[in-house]
Amino acid sequence: MGRVFRKFLESKRVYSCHTCDAHLADEEHIISKSFQGRLGRAFLFESAINISRGPEESRVLMSGVYKVADICCKVCGALLGWEYLEAKEESQKYKEGRILLEKTRLTRTGNW
Ligand SMILES: [Zn+2]
Repeated sequence: MGRVFRKFLESKRVYSCHTCDAHLADEEHIISKSFQGRLGRAFLFESAINISRGPEESRVLMSGVYKVADICCKVCGALLGWEYLEAKEESQKYKEGRILLEKTRLTRTGNW
């Protein structure tokens, strides 16, 4: 495997990859902590770093039909969640471009 450039967040409270500790998202960028992922509870973030996107696909979720792309850790390849690319329902449009990360795939680093 080639060397992957790993970015770091300046924030004191960071959610990192459970497998390799790569920084993923700033605690201040959480939109909601009450989302449902494939593996249970999940958090919705405004943005994330050190991630790579899988192919775009349509998926039927509890709240409607979406175009999504799976999100993996860019450093270790672990599946972390997905990105909402497009929502069909007007009321769900706020999720577009946002990143859902599975709680069980996250670890807290920094000064909590
Ligand atoms: Zn990782």
